[in-house]
Amino acid sequence: MGEFELIRRYFASGGPSREDIALGIGDDCALLRAPTDGQQLAVSIDTLVEGTHFLPGTRADYLAQRLIGAAVSDLAAMAARPAWFTLALTLPEADPHWLDLFSRALAERAAELDIVLVGGDTTRGPLTLSVQVHGWVTPERALKRSGARDGDLVLVSGTLGDSRGGLQTLLDDEPDQPSNAYLRRRFYRPEPRIGLAQALAPYANSGIDISDGLLADLGHIARSSGLGASVDPLLLPLSDELIASVGEDRARQWALSGGEDFELCLTAPADALTICLQLAAERGVRLTCVGHMQPGDDVLLQEDGVSVQLDRAGYDHFGETA
Ligand code: ADP
Ligand code: MG
Repeated sequence: MGEFELIRRYFASGGPSREDIALGIGDDCALLRAPTDGQQLAVSIDTLVEGTHFLPGTRADYLAQRLIGAAVSDLAAMAARPAWFTLALTLPEADPHWLDLFSRALAERAAELDIVLVGGDTTRGPLTLSVQVHGWVTPERALKRSGARDGDLVLVSGTLGDSRGGLQTLLDDEPDQPSNAYLRRRFYRPEPRIGLAQALAPYANSGIDISDGLLADLGHIARSSGLGASVDPLLLPLSDELIASVGEDRARQWALSGGEDFELCLTAPADALTICLQLAAERGVRLTCVGHMQPGDDVLLQEDGVSVQLDRAGYDHFGETA
């Protein structure tokens, strides 16, 4: 199977379209229509490399779900609405079974996330998957990292640490079983909080998605905003499944530094808490206040105002990991 046959068979087969796509896959460029009402284009790219971001032999449909979920999560974190994406595929070989699984799962998940594939690039080499996503955001509603204010509450969606728990069951080589299905799904299938972010954006001052652990990512908000922050480990939202799998202490540690949960971390003034909780509840998403912004230049762990110590390193690709 040649490159063009591969693209035609697996990626250009007419999936859903959108009115704003004047020309999709097949020419030198896609041609896309921009809204005319002053919205800004939000653009982000994410890459998965075999051996670095996933274990060799990982199922192609899981890879597709993780790839598009992680990328769209960046749009969600800006309160942007997903629109289009491009896909750069580097494959060691054109394996029809792999391509079939991958392309079906990608198309299915993209449709659920309301984003359409408009182009890409296909090359031979060590397995590497990249997705660039494009979305639209109202300028004054974009959830930047730099907007947090002293006294803001720190809010997180969902539960934290589950993805790290799912990864551990894979590293431990556990067979698939009902007791680890939830955690594995949280690892393989990120759930970008698109609707929640847009609903909370009018009330929030800053936001980020949690891809490197709460401490690391809240640290980005703190630094960008010229502030410090305080997190109470006892307030962290933990799933029953994670606690059952690794116990409460490790669950708390992974909630702080586990990474790849792709939940939202927002800061909002205290008087917006009630409306934020209500908007989250209406969408059936858990939202938890885990701390607040304060003067300083560090993220501190404090239980009832008293400092506590925990392993606090998030995952850093080019740094030391603890
Ligand atoms: P060019 O050589 O002009 O860059 P290509 O031969 O790489 O074009 O690609 C032909 C068409 O197929 C382009 O429209 C490109 O966007 C699309 N395409 C290539 N690879 C993929 C892919 N993996 N997924 C989706 N579209 C792809
Ligand atoms: Mg060309």
